[in-house]
This record gives sequence, C-alpha cells and structure tokens, in this order.
Amino acid sequence: MPAHPIAPVANPDTQPFWDGCARGELLLQACSACGRYRHPPSPICPHCRSDRHAWVPASGRGTVYTFTVVRQALARGWDDLIPYVVAVIELDEGPKLLSNLVNVAPEAVTIGMPVEVIFESAGETKLPLFQPSTH
Ligand SMILES: [Zn+2]
Repeated sequence: MPAHPIAPVANPDTQPFWDGCARGELLLQACSACGRYRHPPSPICPHCRSDRHAWVPASGRGTVYTFTVVRQALARGWDDLIPYVVAVIELDEGPKLLSNLVNVAPEAVTIGMPVEVIFESAGETKLPLFQPSTH
C-alpha cells in the first residue's frame, strides 16, 4: 500500500492517542473508575460516566471483526491504493478500532483473523494499521 494520502487531525480528546501513534505506541483510555478500556477517545466513560481516565499501552493485537474491500478510488490520486481493505479490528482489550488491513491479499482476509498493529507515516504522525499476526 503506498503512503497514506490522509493525515489525521487531532482534537484535545484524541491528541494523546495520535502522540502515541507517532511514537509507535497504540494507546487506549482506561477508565479510572470502572477500569474498562474505550476507543475512540472520549471525555466521559460510556460505561459508568466517569470523567477520569488514564492512557495505557494496548497490546496491539486483535482480530478482524468485519471488513470490506474498496475497489474504486474514492478521490483523485487514490488509484494506486485500490484495492484496499477497511476493517473493524476488535482489540484484545475489547474496544473496536476502524483501520486498514495491509500486507495481505484482500481475498485472504477472514472474519476472526488474528492481526497486529503496525504504524505507517502520515503527515507528522503515524497511522495504526493492521496486518496478519506474525506470532
Ligand atoms: Zn468507567
């Protein structure tokens, strides 16, 4: 997959997540009250409504929860990207994360496939992408 054409734009809630990605770390918010992980980042725990949390490193491992294969360029200049796989990854910690699957042929992707995070440069940060698990 060529260099990703879109760099993320952080906001105050997501800045620590993207700072982690820039360092090659996948971070999740862990609620300080109930201990549950959440993603995407948010100021309030969706489980107990606490506004206290810590940022903790995730394992970077998960499975393919669902996916689709994009076979038509969605914007000018994206022709080199297709086909590519958009997938919802269910992280081992529980939260789900929308990403791309790389280093795998689209027809080889299956629901439940074990995957691991890798990071790809995008602007001044890196994107958390996933590939089939190598362990
Ligand atoms: Zn909570």
